[in-house]
Amino acid sequence: MFKDFRHHLRHLEDKGMLKRITKEVDIRFEIAAGLRKVSDNDGPALFFEKVKGYPGWKVVGGLFATHKLTAAAYETTPEKLLDRTLELESKRIPPVAVATGPCKEVVLKGDEVDLRKFPIPIHTEKDTGPYVLAGVQIVKNPLTGIRNASMHRMLVIDKNHLSCWAPPDRHLGRLILQAEEMKKPLGIATAIGLDPSIPLTSQAKVPMGVDELELAGGFRGAPVELVKCETIDAEAPAHSEIVLECETVPGRRVADGPFAEYPGCYSESKQAPVVKVTAITMRKDALFQTVLTGMPRTEDHWMMQLYNEAAAYRLVKEIIPEVKAVNVTHGGASRHHVVVSVKKRHEFESRNVILALLGANFGIKHVIVVDEDIDVFNPHDVEWAVNNRMQPDRDILIIPNLTNSTLDPSAPLARTSAKWGIDATMPLTDNEKYKKVYIPGQDGVDYI
Ligand code: MN
Repeated sequence: MFKDFRHHLRHLEDKGMLKRITKEVDIRFEIAAGLRKVSDNDGPALFFEKVKGYPGWKVVGGLFATHKLTAAAYETTPEKLLDRTLELESKRIPPVAVATGPCKEVVLKGDEVDLRKFPIPIHTEKDTGPYVLAGVQIVKNPLTGIRNASMHRMLVIDKNHLSCWAPPDRHLGRLILQAEEMKKPLGIATAIGLDPSIPLTSQAKVPMGVDELELAGGFRGAPVELVKCETIDAEAPAHSEIVLECETVPGRRVADGPFAEYPGCYSESKQAPVVKVTAITMRKDALFQTVLTGMPRTEDHWMMQLYNEAAAYRLVKEIIPEVKAVNVTHGGASRHHVVVSVKKRHEFESRNVILALLGANFGIKHVIVVDEDIDVFNPHDVEWAVNNRMQPDRDILIIPNLTNSTLDPSAPLARTSAKWGIDATMPLTDNEKYKKVYIPGQDGVDYI
């Protein structure tokens, strides 16, 4: 268990998985370019010690940039990540209230709030401006009081306003609209620089009404300690590096975007809710964290992928208990394409698997089902199955016009997509001709 953000950083540094950068870097592209490089080159995470124009500030990024870094956050190995995610997402420990914590060492209110004094990066060439990307937004449902934790991008608009791009199909987006209908602002504690349990479990595919901080407690094996915010009706993790105390401005929207989104394309400009930053509380020597998204894969993809794989695994298991493996693939932006291997018992149950995954609400556009002798993590093996074990006119299901991600440039209509699945499993009977060529002894050659 990592006690806080710094404990996680020390662990990575001790393992040689975090590198300190002493060269002065610019918030404009230079930090993001470094994070791009480590995302493409198996790490390490980066600790920028000098930021041009922001003396004293340090910026950290790429903490989940690779399979190995993500596994380190889960305190397991890359091979065991799915099992570990499935185990952890069922554990719940509710947060506890504490009187104060390190995040209250500095309290800035009113005119002291100035986001422009923070080293908030501009990540890509067409991004609208600097974005807070590593903030976990913690809110209370205005009707039920139940907490919600999630991560949404926030564009800096001026010294004390941010956008909060939480679309209405996401829990926070719904809660913003509910508060608006009640003509009330919604308090949003945006916590930056946390132990990994909190950002990671904020990605879990749990229904509205489940407090993700209870999952975070289960993940870390101890309750998350929360402090009351100074100026809004919300709570924040006591050990946060920085807490932006925000409240929505009901009815107000601002142009947000273009933004380099996780499928690897730019999203168009959208009208996003606006929040006013009413206070900032932080550690005396607070570290600023950012995350990178954009072309897969980045830490954003790894963070999404594990809970997407866990959710896909659970859905498939309801239909075929003998699920061998699930891969929510790299090229499909860790969300839209799934390859699953199964041991089927009925001739056409792979088709039920395809429909279940395409109908689920987490953005799957394409499914390939293969037999258990195919390695879903090896694209050549999967293509071999598609080449040998399926006929396009018989084994492809195409379903027009389903609701899907907003971010598909080929979508015929907003939030709409055709979806498709390939059943590349061999028939249950009379299937000798579908079997892989095998040379006796090929796995045990000892003479080379
Ligand atoms: Mn939620």
